[in-house]
Amino acid sequence: MTVAADDLEALLDRASSGVALDGLRIDETDDGYNLEAGENRWPGLDEAALGRALESSDEYVTNWRYWQETVGGEGTARRAFLRWCERAPLADAEDQADAKATVDAPLAVPERYDALRDGIDREWGQLSITARFVDIDDPDGERVYDLWHVDDADSDLADLEVYDEPRAAREIATHDDDGRYRPLKTAPTLPAGWAFTGLSGDDLVDAVGFFYPATIANWHRERQGALDVDHWLETAERQTGIYDVIDELPREAVEWMTEACCVDSQCLRRREWEYEDGDELDADGGDGPFPCREPCSLVIAAARKWAILESEEERTYELELTTSELNQLEELVDAVAEGRVDEIREADVNDGANRYRARYLRAKRFGEEGLEATKVDD
Ligand code: SF4
Repeated sequence: MTVAADDLEALLDRASSGVALDGLRIDETDDGYNLEAGENRWPGLDEAALGRALESSDEYVTNWRYWQETVGGEGTARRAFLRWCERAPLADAEDQADAKATVDAPLAVPERYDALRDGIDREWGQLSITARFVDIDDPDGERVYDLWHVDDADSDLADLEVYDEPRAAREIATHDDDGRYRPLKTAPTLPAGWAFTGLSGDDLVDAVGFFYPATIANWHRERQGALDVDHWLETAERQTGIYDVIDELPREAVEWMTEACCVDSQCLRRREWEYEDGDELDADGGDGPFPCREPCSLVIAAARKWAILESEEERTYELELTTSELNQLEELVDAVAEGRVDEIREADVNDGANRYRARYLRAKRFGEEGLEATKVDD
């Protein structure tokens, strides 16, 4: 790998005001320039000697050029995300935690350059991202990014629909594999079978934003300790119009609601909002990389329905069932709740949620009036 004359010139221009990035450090002192590149140190260099020393530190120089000249945007979510993609140090509180974790530990420039030749893989919800060099044989520091569904990690590119325009992500994310509209973009129902290859950093960030809106910005805010979380009660109390009722939802119903909607099997955002500040909900908030900072519109709309339903009085019903029929009712509810109704084959009468089993139960136990007939008089 050789250092381009432009890169050296740009670095030498910056040297007098100081350079510090990923183990490359240049300080101007009364005795000349001090240079550090990883473990190597060169004190008291004149400009010519500094140039020569930098030429022998090509990986640090091209790395500096990529981040400072190509990516830029110091302090932005875009830059932090691209650095996360290749496991570069992020210099924030979360990074210190990552440094202790073997899987996510930041990589120093030489290890990172080795890894970028093969490609560094990261997962963001159901997205698989690979950061790699444009030119693997003679890398000049320029990176590109490939993006596909985690389920396609082992697929041949020839079997996938390949895109290069980030806006295509919006279309891909609109419907699930069965063609149903996806109202919640972070539901784990993203269809597979597509790929974006050779994206620039900006295009990668745009594509991820179309798949999972605001996730990069909120992840970045959280890493900086600046995620402004709106808990359930404050969110519910500021609703107006038809949603005004949701603050009447009992606390235990909010528990059931988060268990129904916000766990990882239903939504890949990691719920950070609680019932209210200091009053945590028991339901698992998930453990994905990007946080959820407030109840979303889908949850608000569902909460309205539950607030209305929860205002009804409880009554007693009496329904005679065999033990198997009772088990079958549970299986039916489970099958609907886990979204596996479409998977149950018509011939599989061993499954309690089989269509014929359900129709048989209805014919036998529900009668013409349905379950209303089982009401016990007050
Ligand atoms: S409120 Fe729940 S369902 Fe909605 S985005 Fe947040 S975690 Fe997901």
